[in-house]
Amino acid sequence: MISEYEDEQDKVFLLRNFIEVRISKKRYEKLAKKYTKEHIISFKSDKTLNHFTQRPLIFITKESGIPLLGHPAFGVIDRGTNLIQVRPVTGCNLNCIFCSVDEGRASRTRRTDYIVEPEYLAEVFDHVSSFKGEGVEAHIDCQGEPLIYPYMEELLERIKNSASVVSIQTNGIFINERKLEILEKYVTRINLSLNTLDERRADFIHGARYPLKHVLRVAEMIAKNTTIDLLIAPVWLPGINDEDIPRIIDFALDIGAGKRFPPLGIQKFIKYKTGRKPKIKRYQTFDDFYRRLQALEKEYGVKLVLHREDFGIERRPRIPSPIKKGERLKARIIAEGRTQNEMLCVVRNRVVSVITEKKTGDFVNFEVKRTKDGLFLGVEI
Ligand code: SF4
Repeated sequence: MISEYEDEQDKVFLLRNFIEVRISKKRYEKLAKKYTKEHIISFKSDKTLNHFTQRPLIFITKESGIPLLGHPAFGVIDRGTNLIQVRPVTGCNLNCIFCSVDEGRASRTRRTDYIVEPEYLAEVFDHVSSFKGEGVEAHIDCQGEPLIYPYMEELLERIKNSASVVSIQTNGIFINERKLEILEKYVTRINLSLNTLDERRADFIHGARYPLKHVLRVAEMIAKNTTIDLLIAPVWLPGINDEDIPRIIDFALDIGAGKRFPPLGIQKFIKYKTGRKPKIKRYQTFDDFYRRLQALEKEYGVKLVLHREDFGIERRPRIPSPIKKGERLKARIIAEGRTQNEMLCVVRNRVVSVITEKKTGDFVNFEVKRTKDGLFLGVEI
């Protein structure tokens, strides 16, 4: 036990160095005990890595000084509605060919992962939620798979009283009976990605061995054995999974997906600059996509063209932004950013991604180029 503890202490020492924080010995010992037991952390090399992606993993604790507002990969995102996105972790066990954030071990653009202390994340969520007022949805979605987060139960327990709906987006692979029992205590809706019903195509689409039978069983368990609402959310990849879309609709209706919310959320594939782009001969336009959804709606008698009202989402004032586009600022770099040449700075209690070649600890002058949805991007000047 003692040697295990000493071992853990070393590891946390690496974590501390990596995020450059000073914490009290008591707090340090608490974190050492709490974090290093979890399977998301890999200590195969001299760096602390995300076990799933093998990328360096930065722990974001309150003491790290890294705010939880301002970055798209971790923390809390307020896009001006009563739905608040909650992002506790980055990294994925799959490598989907359409992934908009180029996630998984095969990623060519992501170089850092983050994991947020649940207590800290819940505190910031509570703050945003109380600003929004009644009827808030906590939507746990990630740049990656949320259920790799080892403190999910603690997070859910802490945010449950500040949200009237808790939804979670998942590929379903880590769900089993035991986990479902835990989720059922807190979660209103699971948005489950399911992109094909064909085993060989599933391996191709997900860029990994994909346990299709397991995911189908999970979908059925959620719909039939729990009070959790199930929304099946395939991404339509023209020329790749066209024939799966009607089969997935059949499957969702068959198992009884969608109790209070719609049963299906079919998504159009959208090309993102830093996302993966599968080889698709002819991309659908939005007009094509909605026309085809309307035809399927008629054929199956189910609502497929969705609006935010279907989920009780409405506009609400945003948390005021303390940073303006075009501002010229100077700040110290406190951690590595998510992608190449991106570093994290802190300004007025917001985290700002700055494109620079400078290193952690350096000061950088930059201009704020983007402030949309309270997510900040600066470029060195
Ligand atoms: S699309 Fe989702 S499940 Fe697939 S690699 Fe990206 S984050 Fe993971």
